[in-house]
Order: sequence, then C-alpha cells, then structure tokens
Amino acid sequence: MNVLFASSEVFPFSKTGGLADIASFLPKALNGIGHNVITVTPYYPSIAKYHNDLEYLGTKTVYFGLDNTKVNYYVLNEGSNQTIFVQNQHYFEREFYYGYDDDDIRFMVFSYSVLELVDLLKDIPQIIHVNDWQSAPVPFLLDRHYRYREKYQYIHTLLTIHNLQYQGSFGLYSSRLFNVDFDYTYVHFNSVNYLKTGIETASKINTVSPNYRNEIMTEKFGFTLDGALKNRENDLYGILNGIDLEVFNPETDSLIDKNYTSSNLKLGKQKNKEELLKEFNIEITKDQPLVSYIGRLAVQKGINLMKESLEDIINDSNAVFIFLGSGNEEYQNYFQSLRDKYPNRVAYYQGYNEELAHKIYASSDIFLMPSEFEPCGLGQMISMRYGTIPVVREVGGLKDTIDPYNKYNNTGTGFSFYDQNKDVFKDKVLEAINMFNNEPRKWSQLVRRALNEDFGLERMAKEYTDLYNKIIGGK
Ligand code: ADP
Repeated sequence: MNVLFASSEVFPFSKTGGLADIASFLPKALNGIGHNVITVTPYYPSIAKYHNDLEYLGTKTVYFGLDNTKVNYYVLNEGSNQTIFVQNQHYFEREFYYGYDDDDIRFMVFSYSVLELVDLLKDIPQIIHVNDWQSAPVPFLLDRHYRYREKYQYIHTLLTIHNLQYQGSFGLYSSRLFNVDFDYTYVHFNSVNYLKTGIETASKINTVSPNYRNEIMTEKFGFTLDGALKNRENDLYGILNGIDLEVFNPETDSLIDKNYTSSNLKLGKQKNKEELLKEFNIEITKDQPLVSYIGRLAVQKGINLMKESLEDIINDSNAVFIFLGSGNEEYQNYFQSLRDKYPNRVAYYQGYNEELAHKIYASSDIFLMPSEFEPCGLGQMISMRYGTIPVVREVGGLKDTIDPYNKYNNTGTGFSFYDQNKDVFKDKVLEAINMFNNEPRKWSQLVRRALNEDFGLERMAKEYTDLYNKIIGGK
C-alpha cells in the first residue's frame, strides 16, 4: 500500500511530544511489513545536521490567499524508510516549531506542500495520512483544489488526532488561506479551526486509544469539538499507540548505566538508581523507592494534583523523587522550590533530555501520570517496559493500558484512580510505596506482570493496516 504520512514533527529530527515518536515508529513499522509509507515533515533548523545525507527532489510553488511561496523538497533515504523535508527558510527555519503569530500561514503552507509533493512522487499515494491540526486542512484542500487532476482523483485521507486540545484555531481572517469562497467547513465558533476542517472532510478519523475515542465525543473531553466528532462517529476509530521495544529495552539500552533483564531487575535498578542520583547529589539506600515523573509541565498532565499532594507524600514516606520536564513557568518554579526544600529527597531537571529520560525509566520503581486527560500516553508504557510501576488516572489511553492492582486476587499491572482529589492521589501513591516497602514478593510479581505487557509496534501497525484497507475499500 502507498501512503504519504504527514506530520509536523518526527523523531529524531524534531520533537515536542508523543506525536514525534509515533510519526517515527508507525511508518517504520508499516514499511517493515511491506507497505510503502513516505513521511513528509517541515525542514526545521534541527534538520541542517542531516543536510549532507539529503537528496534534492524538486521545488513547487504554493499559493495561499493572495500570497505564494516556493518550497523545496529533500529526501532522506534510510533503508526502506523515506523522509521528505519541506524546506522554506522563511516559514520553517525558526527557533521554535510552534507558537508564532503566523502559524496559520506556516502550517497552511505545509498542508499545501504535502499535496504538491504528490506530483513529484513515483508512486501515487492511495492514502494521505495527516496528523493533528498542522496538516488537518489537507483533506479539504484535496477536495477543493486537487481532485480534478488525474493523480489526485482517487486519493483517500485519514486524520489521526493525537491531542484534541490543540486545534489550530485562528481569526476569521485566516479563511483567505483556503483559497475558496467563505465556507463553514473550516469555521468553528466564529474562528477558523484547522482540526475541525479535517474532522469534517477526512475519509476517516482516528485517535490514539479506544477509550479516548469514546471520551472525545463527550462535552467533558471534547474541547468543544465533541459535536463535530459525534457527527462522524461511524468513521471514528481508536487505535492504541505502541512503543519501539528495541529503543526502550532494559537489556540493550546503551543510554542507561546498567542493563538488566527480568531476572536481575532488582539489582539492575539499584545500580542505575545509585548512578543517576549521584549526579543529583542524592544518596539512596537499598530500601528506598524512587518515584518519578517525565513529561511536559502542562495542566493536562495533572501537575496541579501533584502540587497539592507531593509534600504530604514526601513527609509520609521514605521515597526519593525525580522530575524531568519543562513548560509552564509556574510549574517549573514549583519543582525548583520543592527540590530546594527537600534536597536529599527531590531531584529536578528542567528541560528536555532523552538520555536522562531513559536513565530515569530504568532507575525508577514508581512512575506518576495523574493526567487530567491523556489521548494515549507513552510514559506509562515505557515505564512498564523497564519494570517501573505506573500510578495513573483512569482516563484516555491510561485506562486502556493499565490494569489496576487488585489485592484480593493479586492481579493488575499498576495503580489507578479516577477522582481528581489530592487525598485520593496521595493514597494511591502511598499504597504503591508501601507495597514496595513491605510486600517485596507481591511487588516483584506486579513488576513481572507489567514487564510482560506487550505494547509493541506490530499490533499498532496491523490495526492501521486494517483501517487503511477499510478506507480504500470504501467501508
Ligand atoms: P505528550 O505527547 O502529551 O507530551 P506522551 O506520554 O504521549 O505525552 O509522550 C511523551 C514522550 O516524550 C515520552 O516518550 C516521554 O518519555 C518523552 N518526554 C517528555 N518530556 C520529556 C523530557 N523533558 N525529556 C525527555 N523526554 C521527554
């Protein structure tokens, strides 16, 4: 099957979150089972270091409103995987990926560029698979401006929503960029809304876990688009993300201090823990559990709940804590002051650090993910791969991936709660810590069950293949 996969970020070239991981894992997994999936993404300054390996493919002019600009396409070939970078210095070679006043223009240029690229490809894609708001205008533009061309006649589209909160919402003036007479397809509450445009026009839509798929059709989780999604209920799917079990593998991971298997996990974790915490000037004894958080410091991630309860948990337990992330300034200040107040118990690294993330996953015993909402979440799956037990809120993909511990029949793979209440959260974290401290046998059994979960890419690739087939078959 020929697929053109468009994403505004692709690991390792660019990354702000889980989208980049999936945009890297999924095309590779699909190519691994014989499909031909080509990835297309903007050429940001971070791509420059690959420039000598790139091959020039061609140049196109894209038109938006009364403006136009030229884009160059460069190809990176890595075995059966092809990534094509859309180069336009003015729009994409900036310090940050997002957050500019002209983001509406920047990602409309990207969307047109995805469509123009089809003309340069050897194989016409059967499906253009777009991701999130940054390429969500593609299905609409395809129908309005490209269908009449022979190559574009039969192309289908799939929109994957990785996070409904970010919609690409702009003033009505942005409507000029679609190059059509005013049309309500792209209007939502008196704004132009790129994601809604995709929801209305893509052949099919999916999101990144079955539970989030159901949640987003409700007012509570719908971010005002629940109605638009409900209208397309029959075309809306939920496919759980996967993780690359080779990249995240405690047996072979070269970024961690000591590799380990399920049989020497305890010792391996202990060694990793000591090395990691040495860097933060914290001494840890054998019986102290390490509790961690890795992720964006955003409201979505349940940081408010952590703010309300972490000090109590520190005071009521023997655990040591490590936090990795950046984002909201108020949260950054909070973690800094927590570290300053408890220098022997709390480590905090502000920023993005891939290597440190691996070290933390490998060293921790307990991983916190009390998200307010969570489309899928990768952190909890990566944790389990390293034998680290997640404590999660029962929302979105967290609910799909964690089987809550049941002390009566000794089953489950983690701890979970629903109420956004500081005591409920605190009690769950303390329950995990206490079990680590007082019931080592049960803890090892829990860890083993978590380790045995398979969140690999094969299942995900198969489910996307099935969905592609449905789309092409017109089902
Ligand atoms: P989201 O996409 O909402 O940010 P996910 O859990 O889906 O959250 O994916 C986050 C990914 O980014 C995980 O692979 C996580 O390990 C990684 N990550 C998040 N923050 C950091 C950080 N500060 N340093 C290194 N890796 C990070």
